Amino acid sequence: MYRKDLIDILFNHPQSVRDLSALMEEPIKDMVSDLQHLQKSLRHSPYDLEITPAKCKHCGFGFSRSHMTRPGRCPKCRSTWIDPPLIGVTEKH
Ligand SMILES: [Zn+2]
Repeated sequence: MYRKDLIDILFNHPQSVRDLSALMEEPIKDMVSDLQHLQKSLRHSPYDLEITPAKCKHCGFGFSRSHMTRPGRCPKCRSTWIDPPLIGVTEKH
């Protein structure tokens, strides 16, 4: 039930884990674990969890897709000016 809600919220409407945790009134840590479970459970569904990786706004460094939360600092230029990863749900092609 709860995961179905998450799919409805995220479908074609990607957002950051921080925004999502505020919306669902859940700690970020729990939100990440929910999203990881959702990602696994979607494997055999018509949907996919799509992660738009975080990106450094200072030097353009692209972070790995495996991060769901916003990295603290860019490893390349040390900037903290970073776009958070966005989590969304899309239909499989
Ligand atoms: Zn950077």
